Parts: sequence; structure tokens; C-alpha cells
Amino acid sequence: MANENKLQNIIGHCKEYGFIFQSSEIYDGLSAVYDYGQNGTELKRNIRDYWWKSMTQMQENNIVGIDAAIFMHPTVWKASGHVDNFSDPMIDNKDSQKRYRVDHLIEAFVETLDKEKGDAMLAQMDQLLAANDYVGLKQLIEDNKMKCTVSGTCNWTDVRQFNLMFSTQLGSVSDEASEIYLRPETAQGIFVNFLNVQKSGRMKIPFGIAQTGKAFRNEIVARGFIFRMREFEQMEMQFFVRPGTQKEWYEYWKETRMKWHMSLGISPEKYRFHDHVKLAFYADMACDIEYDFPMGFKEVEGIHSRTDYDLKQHQQFSGKKLTYFDTDINQHYVPYVIETSIGLDRTVMLLLSEAYYEEDLSTAEKQDSRVVLKFPPMLAPIKLAVLPLTKKDGLPELAKDLINECKPHFRCFYEEKDAIGKRYRRMDALGTPFCITIDHQTKEDGTVTIRYRDSMEQERINLADVKNIILDKIKMF
Ligand code: ATP
Repeated sequence: MANENKLQNIIGHCKEYGFIFQSSEIYDGLSAVYDYGQNGTELKRNIRDYWWKSMTQMQENNIVGIDAAIFMHPTVWKASGHVDNFSDPMIDNKDSQKRYRVDHLIEAFVETLDKEKGDAMLAQMDQLLAANDYVGLKQLIEDNKMKCTVSGTCNWTDVRQFNLMFSTQLGSVSDEASEIYLRPETAQGIFVNFLNVQKSGRMKIPFGIAQTGKAFRNEIVARGFIFRMREFEQMEMQFFVRPGTQKEWYEYWKETRMKWHMSLGISPEKYRFHDHVKLAFYADMACDIEYDFPMGFKEVEGIHSRTDYDLKQHQQFSGKKLTYFDTDINQHYVPYVIETSIGLDRTVMLLLSEAYYEEDLSTAEKQDSRVVLKFPPMLAPIKLAVLPLTKKDGLPELAKDLINECKPHFRCFYEEKDAIGKRYRRMDALGTPFCITIDHQTKEDGTVTIRYRDSMEQERINLADVKNIILDKIKMF
């Protein structure tokens, strides 16, 4: 399947099966904003739970979770550097008025070149971005006659910066003092609570604080379905370490986070590290974990060594001390921080890309096909479908008894309509890993048929064993 088609097919499938809808669709939608439907919500929640447990419960290290507010004091964003620096270089086409992020415009052009020329141009772009050389970037665009996709012309404005934060008013008086921002990352909620958590939890360095929650960015070019949204969810962890040890902890978290991705059962070839050439204003080392999406390798997670930049800035702007007394070395210091930051929606997109298969099941006798979502069973929205073969003879009652036994432990689905084959296919399309069919033999010998989504194999097992078999197959750890 061509990759462009695959992305379009996934988008269509997500709508048809209640995973993801365009926001405010009946009003023609809101660009780059999406709503999760009944199945997408479960998938997203399961991913969030898996991340949360991996980071806060199954760690050798001491990591605790918090839930900070989206609104924060406006000075937070002054201190963090976001007011002055959280911007991307943009360029507008004068004929169409369409605005582009400079790196996206160049990257799109690079895709039309052969590999060698493309790599050289990307290297040149990285250098110009690292030097904030806007004149050079414009020159690169003009020299290569990069065109606007709408007007088809090369009539460009100068390159300039555009801040990505959304602002709004707190309270009823709209003066400047009440202007606040929707957080563009969850991390600052962790930094400003560093001492609260450290003191109240009597935490010893090294330790981490994890958080999941919404973040907002006024992305100029929002594209790729839920890859780049204006409202999205992040799962972040800040790990506080003794200054001088950041390199080893950075390596540790690179490796640990990559292992987490592998634990989703995805092949290593689908992932790669990308080291940053242009470091963000707060970082001394940084890399992305990239996944091979239908539109190519793209970032899904960032790992950043943020130094003591954020805590020092908050110390300076708030006038409050944010130091830690390390009893092992009898020293006060501002800790260094390693951050792991993964997009929840991007991980949903990763799992959809990985799980989506269109399979041809035709035989000599008949044409047949199915669409199946091969999610890891622990993350599937519905874990078990219970299907009585017929609507009578006491089979629905047996099915409902099984559901009542299982539903305190995992999500079940009951369906009695349509031929059994059709019901299996619907469950394949939702990614349900196991179906149990209750038939007349069940009444005689207490056995049922279990049908496996990926292999489509079926076998007879004891009704009494179903709950424990499924529990074993969906366990996270
Ligand atoms: P990009 O280069 O793709 O804009 P970034 O480097 O700005 O991403 P970070 O600030 O490191 O991203 O954010 C951490 C993670 O948050 C990213 O790896 C990504 O998974 C997610 N993320 C960032 N921006 C968006 C967005 N607009 N929509 C969805 N997820 C996002």
C-alpha cells in the first residue's frame, strides 16, 4: 500500500470505527484539532496508563507523578524563555498569503531531490537555523526556486519569528497584567513544583517527577492528522540529578525510553535516534526518538538534557531559592535535569500506523479481505468480545454471565446480531484481540471457542478458564 494511501485509509478507518473525529465536524471542523471517539479514548487511556505505570511504578528510580494546572503565572513563561524564544522562523508567500514554517518548506522541497543533494541541503538548512541566519534561509529558498503550493510562485516575504503560544485573559478586566498563556509544554508545571514535591516527599536526588496533560501550540503548518495538532497531550518526566552526572543519566534515559518503545512489540528497524544539531535554548544534549510513520521517519519523543537552566531561571524571576542540599557530598546546588517528553497523540498515531493492516484472504473459491488493527493486547480498546452463536436456547445468558465475571477486570463487548464471521470482522476492525463464541456445545461440556485476532485461529477452551487466560495475555508487566 502506498504510504499516502495508508495514511488516508487510517484516517477514514478512525472515523468509521469511532477512534478519532475532526473537532466540530458539523461546523466543517477546526483545523488541526481532533476529538477522540469511544474507541480512540480507550486506546489513548491505555497508552497513558502504560506510560504512567512504566515511569512511576515499575522504575528502579524514584519517580512520582503530579497534575499541575494548565494555567500558570505569566512570569513562568517569561522565566522559561518561551515568551522570547518559543518561536519558529516563518515565511509568507505574498501572492497566496500562505504562511510556512521555513524548515517544513525546505524539507518538502528536499523530498523532490535525490538523496545526496537532499542530505546536503538539509545539512545547510541545519547550519543556517543553528546560526539564526534568516537572510541565508531566505536566500536558500529563493536560489532553489521553492514554490508556494497554493500560488505556485516564489514571491516570498522576509523570514521572521512567530511565537507559538496561545494567550488568553484571566479575569474580567482586559488589561495587560491579566494576560496569561495556555501552556505549550507540561514541563514548567513540574519545575515550579520541584521544591514542593522534594520537601513534601522527602525526595533524595536523583529523583523524577512525571506528568501527563494537555499542551497547546499555535502550529502554523499543522498537518499529518494527529501528528501535529494545536491542542495535544504530552507525557513528560523531569529527572533531577547532581550537576556533572547529566551525561550518564542522559544516556541512561535514551536507552530506557527506547526499551519502552521496543516493549510495544515494534521492530527496532522502525525506530531511530536523531541527535539535535540545533539545540533548544535550554539544552546541552538532545535527541529525538523517531518512528517510521506512513509519511517517513518523524519525532515521537524528545530526550533533553536541560541543564539547570529552568530552575535557575525560576529562581531568578521568583526570587525564591530552588536549591537542594545533597547530604552525600554536603553541598547545596541547583539540580540538573534530564527530560523525557513523548506526545500521547503521536503515540496513538504510531500505534495506529503499526497496527493497521489490509489483508487479502481470498481463496480459490471466493474473494475475501479484512481490515485489522493488530494492537498489543494490553492496549486494545476492547479486550474481549463475547458472542453467542444464536439469540436463543440460553446462549445469551451464558454469554452475559461470562461478561459479568470478566468486566471488573477488563473491557468486554457483547454482540448477538449478524453471522459470526461478520462479527469477527467487526472486532478485527476495532483491534479486539480475543473473541469468545458460546454455542450449543457450551451447554453440554462447558467449553467455548476462543478466536485469535492476528492468526484468526480458533480453539476450544473451558469457559471457566476464560477470565484467567485473557488476564494473562493482556497484562502490562
Ligand atoms: P516538532 O519538532 O515535531 O514540532 P518539538 O521538538 O517541538 O516537536 P517537543 O517540544 O520536544 O516537540 O515536545 C515533545 C513531544 O510532544 C514531541 O516529541 C511530540 O511527540 C509532542 N508534540 C509536540 N508538538 C506537538 C503537536 N503540535 N502535536 C502533537 N504532538 C506534539
